[in-house]
Amino acid sequence: MSVRSREVRLAARPHGWPTAETFAIAETEVGDPGPGQLLVRNLMMSVDPYMRGRMDDRKSYMPPFQVGEALDGGAVGEVVASGVDEIKPGQTVLHGRGWREYALIPANRATVVDPSVAPLGTYLGVLGMTGLTAYAGLFVTAEFKPGDVVFVSSAAGSVGQVVGQLAKLNGAARVIGSAGSAEKVAYLIDELGFDAAFDYHDGSVRERLAQAAPDGIDVYFDNVGGDHLEAAIAAMKLHGRITVCGMISVYNATEATPAPRNLAQIIGKRITIRGMLVSDHYALEPKFIAEVAPLVADGRIKHRETVFEGLDSAPEAFLAMLRGDGVGKNLVRIATG
Ligand code: NAP
Repeated sequence: MSVRSREVRLAARPHGWPTAETFAIAETEVGDPGPGQLLVRNLMMSVDPYMRGRMDDRKSYMPPFQVGEALDGGAVGEVVASGVDEIKPGQTVLHGRGWREYALIPANRATVVDPSVAPLGTYLGVLGMTGLTAYAGLFVTAEFKPGDVVFVSSAAGSVGQVVGQLAKLNGAARVIGSAGSAEKVAYLIDELGFDAAFDYHDGSVRERLAQAAPDGIDVYFDNVGGDHLEAAIAAMKLHGRITVCGMISVYNATEATPAPRNLAQIIGKRITIRGMLVSDHYALEPKFIAEVAPLVADGRIKHRETVFEGLDSAPEAFLAMLRGDGVGKNLVRIATG
């Protein structure tokens, strides 16, 4: 017996910023699970910056979305029918087929989660992919050490809010964040305990960073690229380390964007710049959960979520995430459990 399901499809590839016309909502039939499959009723889905890259038709570390087909991405949902013994109807799973009401998924690509232990959104955010990105990018890629001065961009976002707090809790000398609004700056300082934060719209990033870190920085966790990366290179101390996690400032660019104009400083300062992908770090997940879940549970790591209601709001949730309208992790509640 199949179920009627609605899904969000890529209607057209965006040139520059995506718009409402980039998406189309369509109805489809989803069949019963065969052996090894699960039928899942999605409850919550994630909207993430990397999805913008998948809307372009170019080779990357993930395949492009196809025009006319449903988008996908992180989601949690309730199993309604199961083709495997190990996962039963009624259990909740984390999987990769969001952007739809019902998903037919291979059971071996699903992880059982317990919504009574942590709220659904945390499995997509602070204890999920973006939390692990923060953890691996800080401790493995940037080789964070106690006493480091750390700068993180998009600091009030899903990855950034975790980076800054992990650095503080692990002995950073100073943590500085940049974000896109006064509300986010207040969140970083008043709620998350950042030592300094600034709105990057308020003048030159290089000047704002120099004021916030007069003695320089040891680590830059880059979520933004562009002028933020140039400012961080300028502020770097000798042997500084840069984790290049994301460059959201160029994701919608239609022209080639300029490189940092001060790259030559990498030589004299002996700076290490390393790109990272969370997919290389899933072996760290048990350690990450063991360390970070208790910190989230007892409130030493705080996090915010911006939740849109209903599958119809998913395109706007994605666009709002790109624009920076929401604080913390951006999610869509597709249904209630
Ligand atoms: P997020 O920070 O929660 O959301 C994106 C934010 O980027 C927006 O809210 C906006 O906040 C900011 N932004 C947008 N345009 C900007 C611009 N031109 N300049 C400065 N900031 C801008 O997203 P996230 O999921 O935590 O991801 C953060 C970064 O990490 C992204 O670059 C993403 O691609 C990357 N990432 C990489 C990996 C990996 O494996 N390498 C994994 C996850 C995420 P403001 O209001 O502050 O502007």
